[in-house]
Amino acid sequence: MPLSMPTSWLDMANSCVDVLKSQVETEIKAAMTYLAMGAHFARDTVNRPGFSKFFFESASEEREHAIKIIEYLLMRGQLTEDVSKLLSSRLLPLRETWSNGVGALQEALELEANVTKRIQDIIRNCEKPNDSNFNDYHLVDYLTGEFLTEQYKGQRDLAGKISTLGKMMTAHGELGEFLFDKKLLNNEV
Ligand code: FE
Repeated sequence: MPLSMPTSWLDMANSCVDVLKSQVETEIKAAMTYLAMGAHFARDTVNRPGFSKFFFESASEEREHAIKIIEYLLMRGQLTEDVSKLLSSRLLPLRETWSNGVGALQEALELEANVTKRIQDIIRNCEKPNDSNFNDYHLVDYLTGEFLTEQYKGQRDLAGKISTLGKMMTAHGELGEFLFDKKLLNNEV
């Protein structure tokens, strides 16, 4: 580098940077699981296009979350190494087949609850880092307003879907899932 770059503007605590960086992998892993769900439900033998569309869209959202965190780290001058360093070499989905739609939605809700917990952990760590007395209120506000809000809305949405699909299957069995899938395809449920 030809000129010397001042570093005094780099104010994030190391422990906070570390947990934020690890969130990139959490989001990409979630994206992988949703990708597998989307592909599973699009198989000719499963053929639930509504579920497939819903989960492929979820995969795109998770990828967007990873990008948002990478952009945040870049804004704060904290991403100085390759993006691949943020990821482990084998990023596999939780599984590749699901017994039915309810099972996949339940797994999605558990996955989201786990992501929510991780974001809460980052907030706790960055509000009061154990290696610094810098309270990172900007990051905490961003994570609370953008990420937690989306988590809570997404969790409520999944819970509602599980409830509706469960009732439809109790009343109509397999036909319930078939009808729910049609509604899901048109964003009607
Ligand atoms: Fe996410």
